[in-house]
Amino acid sequence: MKKGTVYLVGAGPGDYRLITLKGFQCIKSADVIVHDRLADPRLLSFARPDVELIYVGKEANRHTMRQEAINQLLVDRAKEQKSVLRLKGGDPYVFGRGGEEALYCTENGIPFEEVPGITSAIAVAAYAGIPVTHRGIASSFSVITGHEDPAKTETSIRWNSLATGTDTLIFLMGMENIQYITRQLVANGRPNTTPVAVVRWGTKPEQDVLVGTLATIDQLVQEQNFQPPAIIIVGEVVKLRDRLRWFDNRPLFGKRIVVTRARAQTSDLIELLEAYGAECLQCPTIRIEALDNYQVLDHAISELDTYQWIIFTSVNGVDHFYKRLAKAGKDSRALGKVKIAAIGGPTALKLMKQGIRADFVPEEFRAEGLLAGFQDDLTGVRVLIPRAEEAREILPGELRKRGADVNVAPAYRTVITAEETDILEAALQKGQVNVITFTSSSTVTNFLEMLGGKDIARLLEGVLIAAIGPITADTAREAGLRVDVVAREYTIKGLTEAIVEGIGKG
Ligand code: SAH
Repeated sequence: MKKGTVYLVGAGPGDYRLITLKGFQCIKSADVIVHDRLADPRLLSFARPDVELIYVGKEANRHTMRQEAINQLLVDRAKEQKSVLRLKGGDPYVFGRGGEEALYCTENGIPFEEVPGITSAIAVAAYAGIPVTHRGIASSFSVITGHEDPAKTETSIRWNSLATGTDTLIFLMGMENIQYITRQLVANGRPNTTPVAVVRWGTKPEQDVLVGTLATIDQLVQEQNFQPPAIIIVGEVVKLRDRLRWFDNRPLFGKRIVVTRARAQTSDLIELLEAYGAECLQCPTIRIEALDNYQVLDHAISELDTYQWIIFTSVNGVDHFYKRLAKAGKDSRALGKVKIAAIGGPTALKLMKQGIRADFVPEEFRAEGLLAGFQDDLTGVRVLIPRAEEAREILPGELRKRGADVNVAPAYRTVITAEETDILEAALQKGQVNVITFTSSSTVTNFLEMLGGKDIARLLEGVLIAAIGPITADTAREAGLRVDVVAREYTIKGLTEAIVEGIGKG
């Protein structure tokens, strides 16, 4: 991005991933970001840590910055030789006042660039299963503001040509005037049996769709108290939704799922749950921390050749082992003579990223599975297990019984964290949570500690409780929790599948 330049960037229709690559690059490097409410906070999280974020609102009837003030702000910051990003919902030039901001820049000698975004007019329709054109059904579409004051005597919308002039009509900002809009269309010749869809918060987990006709939609909107932001789609293409619906009929759509994993580890779980349509609430109950003292691990790293096996039991174990390895000035070659076992596909994958193909990955992803794969007599075999400071004793215990010389080297620790307790409790109180996921025994114990003293049985009424495997499930049951589903394969994928099944039965 150039200094002293204003970038008008379209953020896309809602789902934060629907921004363009160029828009994303701008977010990552801007000095100043000026945004309003349609911009997803997750997009802003990619900004530089020292970015200046300026919220200029745009919520109806709330305190907002006037357009002139926004224009001036953009120009002022650019004059300070900053790269200024004006982030706008959808496309900046589709009812976004992007043109006005651009004009103001040129009038003040400030260079600008426009980075188009995916407009809600098309994308929100698509996410509702409605293509705006379709061979044989609609060969044209119009995008119209529905915001015009019906009391105005002079209208800039030519209803008589609009009503029948194009096949698909898409109204933005039209919710308050839906009755006026539908009546104008019928009065100007569009049959009142024409299908209409209203789509609220399109492309988001909250997406909601109402379908009716020009005759009925206004009544439906009132009955359901359907609120903005929404787009109104008028035309025969609406009928295709029955067959082309794909987004809001995914198995976990509309479900709110609590993820209790450490924040640093949640992304793969959240990504997968979201791919099935869920909305995730991050409530990390644990945090992964480095240790103060690495004596045991560092010593083991100094004599890796004396071991026959290293067993990695988690992704974190691999991470922290490699940090210490690097600190000792070594790399994967230091593991050249040692055999490597990994409990779990993700752990094996993490090793692959370091150029190590595990010699053994048990079919069952837990200590018991690993033990089944080792021979009975391990006399004299030296085994290193870099793992969490506190973990189950079964693995080293059993290996020792078979004669192995086992060195358990603490590599990290899990610490209880209660950052989001209030949010979690409020969501549970309001009955907004459908599923809680537990991905390890410590997530269970810490979750219970987080909500210590609360009536947990009542808070969890009607919530599906899902555990990643039998050990985690046992910990939960021992603590008095009901466990509704347990993954058959002890992975994130297995957990997600179990939830889909559990919800289906629910
Ligand atoms: N520049 C934006 C439109 C801004 S006007 C664009 O190109 O999409 C704001 C209007 O856009 C809202 O009143 C609503 O009609 C529509 N809109 C924006 N995002 C939406 C969403 N996620 N779901 C439904 N309508 C949306």
